[in-house]
Amino acid sequence: MTSDQQTTTKFLEVSRLNSIKTKIIVFALLATIIPSVSMGWLSYLQNRRFLNEKIKQELKVVTSQASRELDLWLKDRLYDVRVFSSSYVVLENLEKTLRSGSTHIENVVALRRLKDYLGSVREKIVDYQELMLLDLQGKMVATSTDLTTTVKLPKKWLNRAQANKHTIGKAYWDETLKAGVVVVTQPIRTAGERLLGVLVAKINFQTISKILERYAQGEIGELYLITKDGVLLISSQPISGKFLEKKLSGVTTQELFYKEGEPQRYDSYQGEPVVGALKRMSELYWGVVAEKERAKAYAQIVRLRNLTLALVVGLLLFIGLGAYLLSLSMVRPLGQLTKGASKVAAGDLDVDLPVLSSNEVGYLTEVFNDMVARLRHGREQLDAINDKLRKKNKALHELSITDSLTGLYNRKHLMETLGKEVARSERHEHEFALLIIDIDHFKKYNDTYGHLAGDEVLSRLGSVFSESIRSCDYVARYGGEEFIVILPEIGPKDGVQAAERIRSRVAEESFGSDSEPIVVTISVGVASYPKHGEDPEVIIKNADEALYKAKELGRDQVVLVGQKKRKKRRSAK
Ligand code: GH3
Ligand code: MG
Ligand code: MG
Repeated sequence: MTSDQQTTTKFLEVSRLNSIKTKIIVFALLATIIPSVSMGWLSYLQNRRFLNEKIKQELKVVTSQASRELDLWLKDRLYDVRVFSSSYVVLENLEKTLRSGSTHIENVVALRRLKDYLGSVREKIVDYQELMLLDLQGKMVATSTDLTTTVKLPKKWLNRAQANKHTIGKAYWDETLKAGVVVVTQPIRTAGERLLGVLVAKINFQTISKILERYAQGEIGELYLITKDGVLLISSQPISGKFLEKKLSGVTTQELFYKEGEPQRYDSYQGEPVVGALKRMSELYWGVVAEKERAKAYAQIVRLRNLTLALVVGLLLFIGLGAYLLSLSMVRPLGQLTKGASKVAAGDLDVDLPVLSSNEVGYLTEVFNDMVARLRHGREQLDAINDKLRKKNKALHELSITDSLTGLYNRKHLMETLGKEVARSERHEHEFALLIIDIDHFKKYNDTYGHLAGDEVLSRLGSVFSESIRSCDYVARYGGEEFIVILPEIGPKDGVQAAERIRSRVAEESFGSDSEPIVVTISVGVASYPKHGEDPEVIIKNADEALYKAKELGRDQVVLVGQKKRKKRRSAK
C-alpha cells in the first residue's frame, strides 16, 4: 500500500467521535438541549413557585375562613352557656334546691323547673348534646335528658369557677349519648356573687362538621379539626373507625402547628400523600387543617413537566435529524472526493465525480475533476511518447543486431546466439551443426561487375540462405562475403547434407541478366558440436579451416572438419 493510500484509509477510518458528521450532530443537539432544557427548567421552577403560592393562598383562605367561623361558633356557644347560667330560672331554682331550708315539694318543683328549662334550651340548639347543673362538689343537680349520664369534668373546673371563668375540657366519646362531645363548664353565681354550682354543656360536633363540609368545596379535598396532639376530632368527610382514634404523626402535627399557614407535604391520617396547611382556633388548642391530594395539587406542574420534556425530546429529534441530513449532505461529497482521490492515488485516472452541490465542496469536486482530467491527458501523452520510444528502441535494437544489406542477423547477434546454442546443447546433451559459407572469387566479381552488383549478390544470397533452412535454423552474416548457419539438433553428416542443399540452391541462382547469366558459387566449411569443439570460437575456427580446405580443393564445395579429400558431389535434392 502506498503512503497516499494509507493516508486515505486513515482518513476513512477517522474515529466516529472525531468525524465531521458527529461534530455537527453533537453541536446541533447541544445547541438545542442547553437552551431548551434551561428554559424548560426555569419555567418549571417559576410555575412551581406560582403553583405553591396558589396552593398556599387557597389553603390559607379556606383554613382562615373556617377557623374564623368555628371561633365565632364557639364564642356563640360560650355566650349561650353564660346566658343560660345567669338565667333567672337557673339561679332561683338552683338556689332553692341547694338551700337547706326548702321543703321537699319546693325541691321537687325547683328540680322540675330546672330540668324543663335545660330540656327546652337543649332542644332549641342542636349543638348541645346535654346540659346539666352540678353543685360545687360536682354532684349532678339537674340534667336535660332522662338518661343516666356521667360527665368528665375538665381539670381545675372548680378553681376556674371560683375565678368566675368558664372551662373547656377535652373532647371524648360519651358512651351513653353515643356522641363525641366536648364539655364546657360555666360558673353559676347569685346576684350577690355567691357561687352556686356550674352549668355543664356537652357540646357535640354537628355544626363544626357542617362548617367544615361547607368549606371543603372545590379543589380542597378535606378539611378537618385536630387537637394539639394531632388527634382527629371531626372531618368534612366521614371518618371510619372510632372517635379520636385517627391521628397525624407527631412530626407532621408539630410542623403544621409551628409553621401555621405554610403548606406542608406529609402523609395524611389515611396514609395518602397530601399537601396541607393548618390554622389555629383562637380559643382552643385546636387547628383547622385543609388538605389537597398531592398528585392532584401538582398535576398541573407534572403536566407542564411532561409537556416540556416531550417538547425537548421532539425538538432534539427534529434538530438531530436535520443535523444528520445536513452532515450527510456535507460529508457524502467529501467521502466521494476521498474515494476518488484514493483511486487516483492507486493509479486509476478514470475518475469523474458527480458535482452534487454548488457550495465549496461542489467547487472542490469540480477542481478535482479538472485536475484528474489534466492528469489523464498528461498520462495519455506520456503513454503515446512511451509507445513511440518503445518502437524506436525496438527498431534500434533490430538495427543493432541486423545486417542492413542482407537483412540477416549480424555478427554480434550471431555470437550471442551461438553462445546460447552451445549452452542449450550442452544442457540437453544434444548436438548441432555449424556451416561457414564463403562466396567464391567475390573480389573478382566486384571487380568485374562493380561493387553494387556485388551488394546485390550478397543481398539475394542472404534470401536464398534464409529460404533454404528450417524455421528452427539460424543464419547470420559473419562478415564481408561470409555467412554462418546454425542447425540445431543436427549431427555432422546431416550438416554436410544441409550445406550441400544450400550450395546447390546457390548454384541454381542466376545473377546478371537473362542474356548474360552469371553463376555464383559458394564454399562451405562444416563443423559440429560437440565433436568439433565445445565453445563457439573453436567451432568457428574448425569450420573456417574446413572452409579453407574447400577453397583449396577447388571451391564450390562442402568440406566437413577433418575431411581431407574432395567428396563425390551428390545432388542435395
Ligand atoms: P576466394 O574465392 O578465395 O574467397 O576469393 P575472393 O576473392 O572471394 O576472396 P577475397 O578475400 O580475396 O575477397 C573478398 C572480397 O569480398 C573482397 C571485397 O571486395 C569483397 N567484399 C567484402 N565485403 C563486400 C561488400 O559488402 N560488398 C561488396 N560488393 N563486396 C564485398
Ligand atoms: Mg572470404
Ligand atoms: Mg570469398
